[in-house]
Amino acid sequence: MVRLKAAPNGTKAARTVIIGKVSLCGYNCRQANGLTLSSRRHYGIMNKTETSAPKNFIRQIIDKDLELNKNKGRVVTRFPPEPNGYLHIGHAKSICLNFGIAVDYAGRCNLRFDDTNPEKEETEYAESIKKDVQWLGYEWSRLCYASDYFEQLYQYAVVLIKQGKAYVDSQSADAIRRNRGSLTEPGIDSPYRDRSIEENLDLFTRMRAGEFSDGEHVLRARIDMSAPNINMRDPVLYRVRHVSHWRTHDTWCIYPMYDYTQCLSDAIEGVTHSLCTLEFEDHRPLYDWVLDQLDVPCHPQQIEFGRLNLDYTVMSKRLLNRLVNEEHVSGWDDPRLPTLSGLRRRGFSAPSIRDFCARIGITKSDGIVEMGVLENSIREDLDYHAPRAMAVLRPIKVVIENYPDNHEETVTAQNHPKRPELGTREVPFSKTLFIEREDFMQDPPKKYFRLSPGAEVRLRYAYYITCTQVVKSDGGEILEVRCTYDPDSRGGSSPDGRKVRGTIHWVSAAHAVDAEIRLYDRLFTVPNPNPADFEAQLNPNSLTVLQNCKLEQSLGRRNPEQRYQFERQGYFYMDPDSSARRLVFNRTVTLRDSWGKGHPG
Ligand code: ATP
Ligand code: MG
Repeated sequence: MVRLKAAPNGTKAARTVIIGKVSLCGYNCRQANGLTLSSRRHYGIMNKTETSAPKNFIRQIIDKDLELNKNKGRVVTRFPPEPNGYLHIGHAKSICLNFGIAVDYAGRCNLRFDDTNPEKEETEYAESIKKDVQWLGYEWSRLCYASDYFEQLYQYAVVLIKQGKAYVDSQSADAIRRNRGSLTEPGIDSPYRDRSIEENLDLFTRMRAGEFSDGEHVLRARIDMSAPNINMRDPVLYRVRHVSHWRTHDTWCIYPMYDYTQCLSDAIEGVTHSLCTLEFEDHRPLYDWVLDQLDVPCHPQQIEFGRLNLDYTVMSKRLLNRLVNEEHVSGWDDPRLPTLSGLRRRGFSAPSIRDFCARIGITKSDGIVEMGVLENSIREDLDYHAPRAMAVLRPIKVVIENYPDNHEETVTAQNHPKRPELGTREVPFSKTLFIEREDFMQDPPKKYFRLSPGAEVRLRYAYYITCTQVVKSDGGEILEVRCTYDPDSRGGSSPDGRKVRGTIHWVSAAHAVDAEIRLYDRLFTVPNPNPADFEAQLNPNSLTVLQNCKLEQSLGRRNPEQRYQFERQGYFYMDPDSSARRLVFNRTVTLRDSWGKGHPG
């Protein structure tokens, strides 16, 4: 098992390097001079060798096929989700692979719903899947449904029966399982294996006509009950299911199995390269067997690649379904989930997810990727794109005693310290401010450079202030901190060259916009959650909701599409729960990777 690690301190990732040191107070003192690859790309400082990433093994296969003029130079792929849940970041890997190949080779990529399990499939899921693929930035060549091929698939099955390559088995599901044998023992032929072609045709027609109940008969391929590959021991091709289908409704009461459907759907659509995850490697002989028996338009090549697994979360739709249905999360788009709708709501951008998929690459083995690698992708994207703003998450009041009453002014703040072209904004300043509760300490330890009695700090973009007094309630709770300011330090420097070590952010109380802020942490406390013990392993602190946070005035102008860096706090994105009267922001990611401090693992 390969493990792809995130760098311990933030922006360093798979193929990357150092980042400039971050000061204790949280402001980046030195400009980040050693940037990661994608940051370097953003900032336009890539050198030539960095751009030429090696091609993955699938692209190498395609290159060779094109050289040999295989498939007459066509490249056709498909992304075949089952509409039984929302897409997750693992699906994004497959989407970027399949659609990315179509884009780069001027080929085609279909979105095909693999809808052969009527019990679990729904229109809601199909709609969300379409939305997610488009959001990721891709457009399908054709929108296809396996259910559109039900009649064709049925006719192909009739051909197999007529060739003596398929038969109706009337054993119970249990007996079929038992008689399949094991890795060390061959299977046992079904007593129905030698039914005549006529009898098989008759039974299969009656299966379709609804004469039998669920489980009474199945159609099986007639291959080899002692094949070393268990998938080749007369696999089931069709089963009876009296269930209404989300598209074909009650037209059918027999449904084709995955292995039978996938290869034929690919062939019908003219797919050249059928890319799937590794667990289907052992199914490839069956994929090829079905196509070899039938007169199909083409014989696509199945190629397997490693599945994406992320630590501290779950990706199987079954488990995601449980999280949603048992209300451990608020829905499929809960920002703690690895679903694309959850990541989108949290503030991940489509380019950051594509960047992540490029970073993890395509390999022939399964791997576990650290959540930090995904977080680094969004962090770098937002470091470049997100305008800065000031927001106080846990406010404490500061009154500047020598500042004129009823006076206000504005100070000029940079929208992006590393990108002057993004300009500046005017931020209101007045006598009463809010600062972060943790930026004040009454009895600070050594090397605490923020506000404390007698200490002087810089208010970002504004003035130097010195703490003169702490006002407490009878119970000892700090109600406000009183300070004086140095009017000559406007803009954040003093004409006498006096230095202060700490710079803190602030918001003018009279101008502040109230907001709710939601902070997220890992959904599980263990890197590899065990489905059996799933609930005990959920992180009880995966969501922290802060009320009465104070945002700078400019954030009150609602712009739901804008992602921000709240200075020193991380990157934030407006939640759709926001209304004109109540703003809600989600923290997408912190400024640095602090995972590991005080956490298990
Ligand atoms: P689950 O087992 O969770 O239901 P699935 O693989 O059955 O997932 P599908 O809807 O069948 O989900 O997936 C559509 C495509 O996405 C398949 O080609 C599958 O291989 C790919 N895919 C799904 N999960 C991952 C993953 N974790 N990493 C890479 N590709 C994935
Ligand atoms: Mg599946």
